Amino acid sequence: MFDMLRKIWQVGTVTEKQPFEPAPKKYRGKIELTAQKNTNWEECIAACPTGALCMNVNKIRLFYGNCIQCGNCVKICNTDALTQTTDCYQAVNAKKDLFISVDKDEEK
Ligand code: SF4
Repeated sequence: MFDMLRKIWQVGTVTEKQPFEPAPKKYRGKIELTAQKNTNWEECIAACPTGALCMNVNKIRLFYGNCIQCGNCVKICNTDALTQTTDCYQAVNAKKDLFISVDKDEEK
């Protein structure tokens, strides 16, 4: 045990932030959700294979924990309410940060 701890202390930090280069332009990264009027939310939600996107009364919710970044919702969406970024960093400190929600009929 002490040998292992001594070795860790001698080596120090060996991890580096990933990835080393920016993601390619076509990389399917994190989905962004913004409030938009006249969005076909029902069709966007129906296109989601994992249930990450859902409607709760007048709120549209996206749970990143279930999102596989397939982009189906973005393809179906007829506004810019859903966009796919090249952001590959999804780590959060608290589970509540994996949820985002917007008002269904609100315009930002
Ligand atoms: S990218 Fe795919 S999994 Fe994620 S919310 Fe959109 S349809 Fe659902």
